[in-house]
Amino acid sequence: VLDGARAHGGEPGAEKVLGESGGAAAGNRLLSLPPEAVREALARHVRILVHAPGSTLFEAEDVVDTLVFPAEGTVLSLLVPTPGAKPVESTMVGSEGAAGAVLGPIPVPAMVRCEVLVGGRAIHIPASDFHAAIASAPGVARALMARYAAALVGNLHQAVACAALHPVEARAGRWILSAQDRLGSRAAVPMTQEVLADRLGVRRTTVTRVIAQLEARGAIQHRRGRVHVLDRAALEATSCPCYAAQRRRLEAVHPDLYPRPGTEHPALAAAPLDDLTNKA
Ligand SMILES: [Zn+2]
Repeated sequence: VLDGARAHGGEPGAEKVLGESGGAAAGNRLLSLPPEAVREALARHVRILVHAPGSTLFEAEDVVDTLVFPAEGTVLSLLVPTPGAKPVESTMVGSEGAAGAVLGPIPVPAMVRCEVLVGGRAIHIPASDFHAAIASAPGVARALMARYAAALVGNLHQAVACAALHPVEARAGRWILSAQDRLGSRAAVPMTQEVLADRLGVRRTTVTRVIAQLEARGAIQHRRGRVHVLDRAALEATSCPCYAAQRRRLEAVHPDLYPRPGTEHPALAAAPLDDLTNKA
């Protein structure tokens, strides 16, 4: 089921990942927010897997009965398959959130393919166990997950408007900013021109032109398959308002959910990005 995945340490790591101190460095922000009793209940059901970049966690139409919480530095891409064309990205998920059976415990066919954009660890929890723990949790935990699900759906609505209305340069800016937020603001974003073209659903020659424009503005530098953000304010000025709207939506779930620009992820300070992307 989990192509390209290998188990990482097994259950003994679960408490550390879900715990408050270990969680800050190695875990998932969304999972670190419920009360301690809920996290303890969940820790029994956790599997930690390491995913290689480019691997597929589930395909569209697969019946998904698991939630996947990317650990710090791991980024998943949700892709909409379209017959006769390459799949287009609807959103990306990092350590601020979860993919899979987010909306409820009933296994339903996935509407998207879930692919690993930046490799690393992810926390897997069976949907039945996760939603049972949340259902029996205090209202604050239930509200947290309901607000996250609402934010996720809101971001998908926004992505539809963005694709229909906004020029590719603005969408490219939004994509790079969103990826960088999930990696820590000083980390380079692993991104070939082909990957960005696929994610945005445009030709590669279009992406070549857009990257040249962003480089000419001094906003980014693209070299050896990585984007370095040189001037974040310039990149934000280029991006469409969808980026700020998506940030606001996730920040409304919980102020600590989404990494703020200028904050370094502790996990990345300890482990260079190359380690995370090449390990698996
Ligand atoms: Zn937009």
